[in-house]
Amino acid sequence: MDLYEYQARELLAEQGIPTPDAIFAQNSHEVAQAADRIGYPCVIKAQVKIGHRGQAGGVKLVHDRDEAILEAERILPMTIHGHKVSGVLVAEAKNILHEYYVSISVDRSSRDFDVLATANGGTEVEQIAREHPEAVKRLHIGALGEFDIDAARRMAESIGFYHADVEQAAQILLKMWHCFRDNDATLVEINPLAKIGDPDDESSKSLCALDAKISLDGNAAFRHDGWARFDDPVQADPFERQASEHGLHYVHLHGEVGVIGNGAGLVMSSLDAVSGAGEEQGTGVRPANFLDIGGGASVEVMRHSLEIVLSDPQVESVFINVYGGITSCEQVARGILEALDELGGAKPLVVRFDGNAAAEGLRILAASSNPNVHVCETMEQAAQLAARLAAEAKEARA
Ligand code: GDP
Ligand code: MN
Repeated sequence: MDLYEYQARELLAEQGIPTPDAIFAQNSHEVAQAADRIGYPCVIKAQVKIGHRGQAGGVKLVHDRDEAILEAERILPMTIHGHKVSGVLVAEAKNILHEYYVSISVDRSSRDFDVLATANGGTEVEQIAREHPEAVKRLHIGALGEFDIDAARRMAESIGFYHADVEQAAQILLKMWHCFRDNDATLVEINPLAKIGDPDDESSKSLCALDAKISLDGNAAFRHDGWARFDDPVQADPFERQASEHGLHYVHLHGEVGVIGNGAGLVMSSLDAVSGAGEEQGTGVRPANFLDIGGGASVEVMRHSLEIVLSDPQVESVFINVYGGITSCEQVARGILEALDELGGAKPLVVRFDGNAAAEGLRILAASSNPNVHVCETMEQAAQLAARLAAEAKEARA
């Protein structure tokens, strides 16, 4: 789960990492109030879960109230790289003397934590890595060893922080690590970690996190009260929300064929098969969602899944693809019929079963003689049929 900058900076501040004063605002009236409180000049920053906002015109320095309102009215309706702006952060402007880059992320190949850092920050780290690969340091924090202040000091020195900044950089590295570890993050990135202050006054200079990007490990949500405080009321998809309330792995894709399967790999192949069928048939029909019912799915799980998928008004047909392992196809079949009993409706379902209790499952479906339930032997055939039925239903409606 990715956080907005305004949420990420809260987690940094909780660890005692210096961040500029800032207020999140969602309309120009709130922006004006926030800017008056923060003081001028201040920075108006688009809140979107994507980087390169500065280059896209989503970060602007303003010098008075009128300018703040003008920029708010320009930035709030923006869509940056396909992401609708959710609001803006009104942040205290700092005088930047130098920009560093530091991130901590999970390194799957070395099974530990990657610290990526450069003392030549400022531009995007990808660009620095391309043009000056020697300037980008890649260090590691062991998964089992202790990362303490001494280790952080050694790391700060090897990254190449200026002498005057080494001690403060070490403190920030250590706090970043605590932020990463305590929040079950997969990424904590500060870019820029800026040296700020008055160039002529040595004592005014300090390091400050001017931008923050944090991703949390969704599998650890249960240890953090489901991260309710990071709920996104603006962008939340009602179907995704309902699915997560039932503990289902659902992603809304906005096509016409609902897809339900067990196991992420099987569901993804099913999505491909549906997209391929839609293209082949020349209808452009596409999957409406990803929904993985997981292993050992019960009647209950199947019922909730169908409820959610069928409540999507864009859905014209549903492809159910289950390879019974722990999951019994018999249970899935019962769930399908119970759901249809409860939900009524007349959208066609195409079912493909294989593996554990597939024959029993198919027998139960056949015995119901429900005209909306179709059975196919292979995944390809089922995807083709589901795509064709969806296109026909759409056509009939048009
Ligand atoms: P990003 O483009 O999405 O990474 O957004 P950032 O928050 O990193 O902002 C982009 C750039 O705007 C930074 O690299 C800075 O150069 C500049 N910037 C952000 N905050 C301030 C500030 O307080 N003062 C000044 N002078 N520049 C800022
Ligand atoms: Mn940045």
